[in-house]
Amino acid sequence: MEAAVYQTFVRPKHAGWKTTDWVTWLTEQHIAPSVMANEEGTCALCRAPTPTDAHGVHYTRCFNCQKQYASVLDGFVPICYSVHDGLEGMLWRVKNSPGYEWLRAPLASLLWHFLERHLSCMERAYGGPFDVFTTVPSHSETRGGRNHLPLLLQSVTALNDLWTEGALTKKHSNKAGERRRKISTDLFSASEDVAGKRILLLDDTFTSGGTLASAAYALKQAQASTVVALAFGRQLHSDWDEHRYLIEQLPDRSLDLQECAVHGAGLPWSWISNRHG
Ligand SMILES: [Zn+2]
Ligand SMILES: [Zn+2]
Repeated sequence: MEAAVYQTFVRPKHAGWKTTDWVTWLTEQHIAPSVMANEEGTCALCRAPTPTDAHGVHYTRCFNCQKQYASVLDGFVPICYSVHDGLEGMLWRVKNSPGYEWLRAPLASLLWHFLERHLSCMERAYGGPFDVFTTVPSHSETRGGRNHLPLLLQSVTALNDLWTEGALTKKHSNKAGERRRKISTDLFSASEDVAGKRILLLDDTFTSGGTLASAAYALKQAQASTVVALAFGRQLHSDWDEHRYLIEQLPDRSLDLQECAVHGAGLPWSWISNRHG
């Protein structure tokens, strides 16, 4: 993939910005439209628009979630929708483009403020508090590559304290350019420590869903009781007919932390932070 196809970002001149300043900056970029509760015509699990039946009614789950992903993923919450000329570029930059490490700060700040408001929503929607917060490794151990999500989490101390690594190991690299739309049973292995645990699994983006579902598969094989995924972006594709109507709405939509995909009253955040404090 060519770096040149993605937009550039100008680092704000600042000293000692707080997480709220970074969320404001991210809002001003107009690239991170929030995923709202009850998005009409989208899959109840992966939140992408579903095809319609003969009567023009959207299916409540997409084919892949129905046939495969729902067996390993108990839930999924994307913070924003991601499109090629939007959040996708920022996530690509932070992972692949030298000199853009500073973009970890706005993304980690977004995650922190999202959890502050909506972790309780996720707990309520998916059966209670989480025991383990972990990430999907982006590199296999053999490649010696850096995993970018732990580095991102380090930019906000409170987040870094909440997450633990080592629950998942990537056993080999994805084939170049591969967009998995299926569960790969040998891509990850999970620590036996996850047995009986409720896992919140973070990835940067849900594109085809295959990577996240493969990670969830490994956790379930290791007897994790619940796996709920969380991602910054739910990727939409302009070349997919059923995604187009939603993509067309996104320019009018902003980053709005008042609501989430599973929004509702829940357990108080203070109760959660005490558990991990
Ligand atoms: Zn789906
Ligand atoms: Zn919420």
